[in-house]
Amino acid sequence: MTENNFAALALSEPLLRALTAAQYSTPTPIQAAAIPQLLAGRDMIGLAQTGTGKTAAFMLPILQRLSKIGTRPMPKMPRTLILAPTRELALQIAEAARVLSKFTHLRIAVVMGGVGMGAQSKALGQGIDILIATPGRLLDHIDQGTCRLDRVEVFVLDEADRMLDMGFIRDIRRVVALLPKARQSMLFSATMPTEIDKLGQDLLKDPARVAVTPEQITVDRVEQRLYFVDAAAKRTLLVDLLQAPDMSRVIVFTRTKHGADRVAQHLAKSGIRAEAIHGNKSQGARQRALSQFKTGEARVLVATDIAARGIDVTNISHVVNFELPNEPEAYVHRIGRTARNGAAGIALSFCDSSERGQLRDIERLTKTPLVVVMGQRPTGHAGQHERPRQQQRPQQGRGQREGQNRGGRQRPRRAA
Ligand code: AMP
Repeated sequence: MTENNFAALALSEPLLRALTAAQYSTPTPIQAAAIPQLLAGRDMIGLAQTGTGKTAAFMLPILQRLSKIGTRPMPKMPRTLILAPTRELALQIAEAARVLSKFTHLRIAVVMGGVGMGAQSKALGQGIDILIATPGRLLDHIDQGTCRLDRVEVFVLDEADRMLDMGFIRDIRRVVALLPKARQSMLFSATMPTEIDKLGQDLLKDPARVAVTPEQITVDRVEQRLYFVDAAAKRTLLVDLLQAPDMSRVIVFTRTKHGADRVAQHLAKSGIRAEAIHGNKSQGARQRALSQFKTGEARVLVATDIAARGIDVTNISHVVNFELPNEPEAYVHRIGRTARNGAAGIALSFCDSSERGQLRDIERLTKTPLVVVMGQRPTGHAGQHERPRQQQRPQQGRGQREGQNRGGRQRPRRAA
């Protein structure tokens, strides 16, 4: 079939050609809902997470708008600014932009922490149509005079809730204050906490609203198995389970960076090729780990929640929750890594006696009891002694647990 259903969305010929080359023939729901509104110049607030096709939903209208401008962008003055919370997400957005802009002459650049500033400054100096940036490094460039925001026509804030978790809201407000008033703005977020809603009100003018909630659907398609196991026996259990050949591409989630390293080392000692990815690794190391996982050189990727966020790897056969996350929403994000693009998936969760509170929160959120395949579900409800961990949640956000709060609340993550 050669017909491309994106044609009905009034996208230009070079974009349709790129979509065909990328083998995107049918718009995802968020694309179908968002693209016409954005092409009409509306602001947008989008409730959507990674995996829904949201990147192309905002990128295609941006590309269409920018391709109509006959002149080149001025040095240091990008025409579009896309802010992303993590380096991985920034790189992924840039990759999507490159794929979709293949038949245009638009210039794309990424500005993020963890790598030198020189090449970024040079790219900015040449004039950029689309700048994708993490907040801390963008502000560094602004402070050094290598980037100015006076000519931004389109502004996108991606994964806004994650920005909030990571303590970036002040940085974002600083950036927004530098943008011209006349612009098109979009905000995308997987959840809509009050602060994000408020930010949206300050940022957007009469925004169109689009929402896709894939979580429930994704969860429904994932077979969710539960192992009651002592904490000390988890590593052995993992190695045993990984003997099964159908565990062909596996993400193992741990709660902490050290946990991720320990699990990866243990797997390596047991002869299983695994890579760990977390916030303490350099950008190069993370990219290497990811590419070895993507090519299948490493069968297992051990990751923390934040590091895994935004990583887009298809054909994940299994997700293993080596430790249950403190936030039940993270469980849904984790298991959503398998069962992408309509496939079914399998999630294995290890629960030790200290994790009963987390398990209860997860089952309450998903409204589905996990299927116990090992051990016994403890009778009665989680006891009082399990509450302290839950009570820590308000003070100890996800970003902090990842160790990204070194610089204090206002600029917690200079590396990004
Ligand atoms: P995103 O939610 O933007 O991270 O996109 C999730 C994945 O879906 C990415 O791998 C995209 O390349 C892919 N994708 C986005 N739109 C489409 C589409 N219309 N058809 C097929 N794949 C798509």
